[in-house]
Amino acid sequence: MKTMRAVRYLGPKQDFKLQAVAIPEPGAGAVRVKIAACGMCHTELHLLDGLLDMGRRDFTVGHEIAGVIEAVGDGVPAERIGERVIVYFMEGCLECQYCRAGDEQLCTAPIGQAGFFSDGGYADYIVTRARNCVVVPAHVKLHEIATMGCAGTTAVHAGKMAGIQPGEWVVVNGIGGVGFALVQYALLAGAKVIGVGIGAARLALATELGVHGVIDAAETQDVVGAVTAMTGRGADVVFELVGAEATMQNATKMLRPRGRLVLIGYEAASYNNHPLELILREAKVMGSVGCTLQDLHDIVALVADGKMRAVVDLALPLDDFATGLAALAAKTLLGRAVLVMA
Ligand SMILES: [Zn+2]
Ligand SMILES: [Zn+2]
Repeated sequence: MKTMRAVRYLGPKQDFKLQAVAIPEPGAGAVRVKIAACGMCHTELHLLDGLLDMGRRDFTVGHEIAGVIEAVGDGVPAERIGERVIVYFMEGCLECQYCRAGDEQLCTAPIGQAGFFSDGGYADYIVTRARNCVVVPAHVKLHEIATMGCAGTTAVHAGKMAGIQPGEWVVVNGIGGVGFALVQYALLAGAKVIGVGIGAARLALATELGVHGVIDAAETQDVVGAVTAMTGRGADVVFELVGAEATMQNATKMLRPRGRLVLIGYEAASYNNHPLELILREAKVMGSVGCTLQDLHDIVALVADGKMRAVVDLALPLDDFATGLAALAAKTLLGRAVLVMA
């Protein structure tokens, strides 16, 4: 049996383990991708702390996957071998009402979700549906686009959910991996963007990307007041990426009437606000989870056209995944960390 390296999830509150597992063979409609790089997402920390537990054990983690197709299963043209691709991590049933509409992230009976409950990308190879492999143009680096597989697609999806209109004030509450992508996407949509985050380096990069204002949450007593001062009546859209009780309350209070709050990041805290905060604003609160396959096609095109870019802070070999996870947990990274397979 030919084996490969894979970083395995064994259960909540247990460290991931680097193991040798069988190299998977592609079945009908599937391909095997030799993984070039896999971005590291906060989700991995929530597998470790048990906040995210989809009931499965013993699978390979990682869902920001890019590589090269090296084998195809029945029904997939051999011409696809050699394609540089990024992988869509959802494998919906393709038959429920959500899948039929393209919303595989809402599938009621998913077959797989790479790195969440089925085998993902902290490994040398992955087998996935051929349709889930989106071609990456030659001028785009695989280790950079990999990180957009979740960070970028999450931003595109949440941006569409919010229905950003040109000229609107958008607050990105939490500047980091997803935050940098959201800032860029909201600017492309014609919004005036305020980045709220921690640390001069992150906020400087947000400024470089073109935001209209930044607020250092660690040094600002009244973040809501600061947003109101910049916007007049508050924000049209707030993307909440932090998930702490205080940041979620602030995110709600900084909305102008008819504002929309999109919840994306989460920790252990609950969303806890008095109903009047929403009633008196006629505010909308919504969640946004993952992305559609189309969102992945969109982000690849945006990066290929130079309209958006990945922010990668740290590249590590696969065997050093624990170093990357520690950096993620310490919240010291400027953007994404990415594992680069040898
Ligand atoms: Zn489905
Ligand atoms: Zn992710």
